Amino acid sequence: MELIDTHAHLYDKTYDADRAEMLQRAKEAGVTLILIPNVDIETIPLMLQLERESEGYCKPMMGIHPCSIDATYIEKLDVAGKWLEKHTFYGIGEIGLDFFWDKTFKKEQEEAFLEQCKWAKTKNLPVSIHSRNATDEAIYLLEKANLGIDGVFHCFSGSIEQAKRIRDLGLSMGIGGVSTYKNVKIGEVIEEIGLDHFVFETDAPYLSPVPKRGKRNESAYLTFILEKISDDLKVSTVAISEAFSNNSKRIFNNCF
Ligand SMILES: [Zn+2]
Repeated sequence: MELIDTHAHLYDKTYDADRAEMLQRAKEAGVTLILIPNVDIETIPLMLQLERESEGYCKPMMGIHPCSIDATYIEKLDVAGKWLEKHTFYGIGEIGLDFFWDKTFKKEQEEAFLEQCKWAKTKNLPVSIHSRNATDEAIYLLEKANLGIDGVFHCFSGSIEQAKRIRDLGLSMGIGGVSTYKNVKIGEVIEEIGLDHFVFETDAPYLSPVPKRGKRNESAYLTFILEKISDDLKVSTVAISEAFSNNSKRIFNNCF
């Protein structure tokens, strides 16, 4: 059985003491590849060090996270854009909109999001999209821009209506630990939309699935998410992992 973690921040300092062991546990759990989203300028060297040390098991993506978009965002995009010219990246991420914490830079977030989506178009790379309290806005911007890009709405926990619009954009949705929390009914959304538009992710070190909720997350915990989705859909873990891995390979085809 093969699992692909399409979104994990494994350069995070919470792994500094046991990163090699943590990656070994992921391999033993059947995780064959991990996509690493960038966040801000200072995470770039940490992410590239992880790529080197993991010998390509962890594949970097390039982008500036919406929570890092501030008055200096033009300079940040400039640095990220230059990296794209001099190193191989496997996606544009994570990018998007976050109106949960702060709307001060709403306009700047929208501009940065669209600009980075255009990078994905010109570079022919998939996107990893973060949207918090802003999923409708992110979908609307993508519909209006009509770029025809591929990629993932990471950590999706929205409605069937939102999922249909994402599918119609040609994009997929990342299913992570949130799917194991009470009151989250992502199984119904997957049943309605079809297995072809979903991939697994952890968003580690955040959003640990039950029964690890509240603890540090890691890629090996994908197995808990797989079991939950398998239970919800009454489809075997083998069939789900195969479908989601195939989707991940189609979307992140530069990794293969
Ligand atoms: Zn993330």
